Amino acid sequence: MQQLHHFINGQSQPGDSGRNAPVYNPATGEQSASVSLASAEETRSAIAAASTAFPGWSNTSALKRSRILFRFKALLEKHSDELATLISREHGKVHSDALGEVTRGMEVVEFACGMPHLQKGEHSLNVGTGVDSHSLMQPLGVCAGIAPFNFPAMVPMWMFPIALATGNTFIMKPSEKDPSAPLRMAELLAEAGLPPGVFNVVNGDKEAVDVLLTDERVEAVSFVGSTPIAEYIYSTASAHGKRVQALGGAKNHMVVMPDADLDQAADALMGAAYGSAGERCMAISVAVPIGEQTAERLRDKILERMATLRVGPGEVEGQENDMGPLISRVHADKVIEFIDSGVEQGAELVVDGRDITVPGHENGYFVGATLFDHVRPDMRIYAEEIFGPVLCLVRQESLDEAIALINAHEYGNGTAIFTRDGDAARQYTTRIQVGMVGVNVPIPVPMAFHSFGGWKRSLFGPLHMHGPDGVRFYTRMKAVTTRWPDGLRSEASHFTMPTL
Ligand code: NAD
Repeated sequence: MQQLHHFINGQSQPGDSGRNAPVYNPATGEQSASVSLASAEETRSAIAAASTAFPGWSNTSALKRSRILFRFKALLEKHSDELATLISREHGKVHSDALGEVTRGMEVVEFACGMPHLQKGEHSLNVGTGVDSHSLMQPLGVCAGIAPFNFPAMVPMWMFPIALATGNTFIMKPSEKDPSAPLRMAELLAEAGLPPGVFNVVNGDKEAVDVLLTDERVEAVSFVGSTPIAEYIYSTASAHGKRVQALGGAKNHMVVMPDADLDQAADALMGAAYGSAGERCMAISVAVPIGEQTAERLRDKILERMATLRVGPGEVEGQENDMGPLISRVHADKVIEFIDSGVEQGAELVVDGRDITVPGHENGYFVGATLFDHVRPDMRIYAEEIFGPVLCLVRQESLDEAIALINAHEYGNGTAIFTRDGDAARQYTTRIQVGMVGVNVPIPVPMAFHSFGGWKRSLFGPLHMHGPDGVRFYTRMKAVTTRWPDGLRSEASHFTMPTL
């Protein structure tokens, strides 16, 4: 059985807490590894390593820091297949989807490579007579990142490339369910030339996280995960004087207008609802067709496409599956329980994914693609985040009704509208209370040079991830005002070449 360690001060470090968690292959249900869970003391030793590395790293020129990230990016490209295999094995998503995640993370590294330009301050000459002002964007110190299971490579890369490029040192706490990809990235960073202690990986659970939230040497905490934990992270770390960005759960709606290209909308829904088995914070879990006719036609088109959906393991020879297993037995059972509740509360179960069997993978954590129609807002399958391959149709009569419905939901991460009507799209994008909006784009994840974040209970804290907000999050502004007394200008001739 493989034992997964921590990565502290530039090297792999075996855990000594005596606590471990099993890591499973979700496609087979077999345990593939055991991961050390750090004690409070081990977590503090990682903070000490990061604190010691901070003065040297923050004083390294921005250009040298970025050159290390350039080398890291080249190593990511070289090892992307290997990283995708690690992700598929522990998370379950299909290989091409895992490769896509590595690419989206790598784009943040590319953005961070431009930090010498992004971290330039501003300068004003003569703000008063003989007085100038300039600003510095300085790193904070030791920063921590806490990641969810669903993007084991991309979400850490939303955080650490920008933190490191701006001169901070970092402690990553990956999900204990799939820690291999972040551990491999720590090795690649070291290979790229990152000095020891600048980037550390501490594996663990609440015990390690609580130290990161309260230790006075940690200056900032970035978190991505479920809303109850995001709220806990935000309130605890803020109460301990830290800067916090905590991204939470989601329930993303896609409005389909009567004038939309319904084939395009149905195609988009397949990937957005069932890709990665619905375990994406930007997955569409609610489709909102406007009008009965749109609803009937859209439902037929979804059903046609669901009939050919391939469910199976993430790593296969030959033709790839569309959708893999869920992360754990516990989570698969929770999704099935949600489906049960939908039936009990009176929704129409059009396609039932509860009893799927994947030949050769009978113990895998598979739940088939599921479709509910006539879902009402008071049902649990609508109100709560399921985080599985379950799509709900909530029929509405008008765009105004749809906007009111979505604005009343507690989450506001992502949303989309499918239409050919510019006015409907304009109304929607301006009135909807959601952080990321797509127009005929089902999963509107902003590129690395824009910022990613939801509204309402999908994000706690003012700053989003990566892009310009990421640079602001990991730097502190300092305004410097200078006035110099008159210099010795008249005596400068002493230094010129004497001539006759
Ligand atoms: P989770 O909240 O269970 O865990 C996230 C991290 O918090 C893990 O590293 C875990 O070890 C740690 N953690 C868990 N319980 C804790 C506790 N009591 N105290 C301290 N730390 C704790 O989330 P998950 O199941 O790994 O991920 C799925 C969730 O993440 C979904 O809700 C999904 O919507 C959300 N998510 C959101 C975004 C976004 O951008 N908003 C992106 C990806 C995932």
